[in-house]
Amino acid sequence: MKYVGAHVSASGGVDNAPLNAHQINATAFALFTKNQRQWQAKPLESATIDKFKHNCEKYGYSSKQILPHDSYLINLGHPEAEALEKSRVAFLDEMQRCEQLGLTLLNFHPGSDLRQISIDECLARIAESINITLDKTTSVVAVIENTAGQGSNLGYKFEHLAQIIDQVEDKSRVGVCIDTCHAFAAGYDLRTQKACAETFAEFEKIVGFQYLRGMHLNDAKSELASHVDRHHSLGKGNIGKIAFEYIMQDPRIDGIPLILETIDPDIWIDEIAWLKSLAK
Ligand SMILES: [Zn+2]
Ligand SMILES: [Zn+2]
Repeated sequence: MKYVGAHVSASGGVDNAPLNAHQINATAFALFTKNQRQWQAKPLESATIDKFKHNCEKYGYSSKQILPHDSYLINLGHPEAEALEKSRVAFLDEMQRCEQLGLTLLNFHPGSDLRQISIDECLARIAESINITLDKTTSVVAVIENTAGQGSNLGYKFEHLAQIIDQVEDKSRVGVCIDTCHAFAAGYDLRTQKACAETFAEFEKIVGFQYLRGMHLNDAKSELASHVDRHHSLGKGNIGKIAFEYIMQDPRIDGIPLILETIDPDIWIDEIAWLKSLAK
């Protein structure tokens, strides 16, 4: 079973996200559980939590179909102690919000070395941040997203993801989300069947499909290996349609949320219908 959806708006309250997902015939969705550009958020009210759970049940979204995304401000590998602590506090809050909402996945960008510490050191810090947070929570899986490698962001190589996972104590609560645009921009070709087969074989060898807990399906305005993160609508960018046909027909990618973060929300309904039509 393939679960397909988009990163929908939660404006007006997180309980609106499942409604917005239902309106585009999505069978999965992503959301921010707080404003992604601010550090602070007021706690979720119990009425909002109840409405969210009610709407998810009403429209058929179980927690494995929902991939919340954390704030863009958080850097779990920050080189400076004080800033690192601030990120860890915010990340714990994000994970606790997920727990309150009955969600079991939390998608985040691994972090940035800000060119002040080595890659190894930064990846170790990220793993430590995950360990600390998992210790203080009980159910949510930390889902590390691969990046395009913009600026000093780590996570652009499958080896980075593997190196973090390696240092996480509870392997049952760590996973990855592969973003097709980020992978392509990081240098993983997806333009042909052969390129897809090679990229996913590489992923299997370095990370392993048992850790794949979600995907972001985005075409790319950016070029292969450009390290530039610019999403495009499916089939309109430099990746093209084949990658999405490949993904929708690969049984190793069953049962996880496949989330559009493409640039034109007005055509999400069409993109979702197209993706569904490709599933065997
Ligand atoms: Zn993404
Ligand atoms: Zn992106």
